[in-house]
Amino acid sequence: MTKSEKQQRPIKDILLDGDGFELGDGLLTLGGERNRRFMQCREAEGDSARSAPANDLRGKNGPRIGVLAIQGNYASHAQALIEAGATPVEVRKPEQLASLDGLVLPGGESTTMLKFLKLRFFHALEEFCGSKPVFGTCAGAILLAREVINPAQRSLGLLDAVVERNAYGRQIDSAIVTAQTALAGGPLEMVFIRAPRIVSVGPGVEILAERDGFPTLVREGRILAATFHPELSSDRRVHRLFVEAVEANILNPS
Ligand code: GLN
Repeated sequence: MTKSEKQQRPIKDILLDGDGFELGDGLLTLGGERNRRFMQCREAEGDSARSAPANDLRGKNGPRIGVLAIQGNYASHAQALIEAGATPVEVRKPEQLASLDGLVLPGGESTTMLKFLKLRFFHALEEFCGSKPVFGTCAGAILLAREVINPAQRSLGLLDAVVERNAYGRQIDSAIVTAQTALAGGPLEMVFIRAPRIVSVGPGVEILAERDGFPTLVREGRILAATFHPELSSDRRVHRLFVEAVEANILNPS
């Protein structure tokens, strides 16, 4: 990746206007049109309101993909999943995982999420990840990692990677980076908010995007993880990649 392929700009100018995002202390609060649209999408069962994607594997609404809705940036993930051809389902209880084809662990504050993920939920997530695709973004990627540093904290250990929390500094050091990635279709906008850094990965981990030589989008089997927030950009290639993995897993369960 050369310098000319990248652009960096501060995030506050972009996130604070237009779409109703507020940057709190590590929390993302959503407002505005996206949130309203998400509120119209149903919480758990039976969504018949939205239009059908052209080719899907679960009837007209595509695969059912859960979004962990305990804390953080789940509303815009749900909207991004709809745009990528899936049906989002808010997940707040472990028993809700049973009917899902895949799961998104959103960004937010991993320490806060951990407080709410009681033992029963933790085990249910581990079990779910054993057979279904999971996509973790930012705090979600931290939850998936084999090892977390700065400081060390509990994690699911499903992605063979060491992840350093808040590696780029404080909220004010958040940035938007546009760079070439392994995804077809030109440079990808990557929104980093108090982002972690993947400092090392195991041999089975595929690196799909980087920032300054460190992986920002990685895949290991059914697990996809991003240290940025693809749901905050209008480009749906990353969510589409995940929805395709979920569709492939429905056809060929692992
Ligand atoms: N700094 C947060 C954490 O360590 C992650 C931030 C994010 O998800 N945008 O959990």
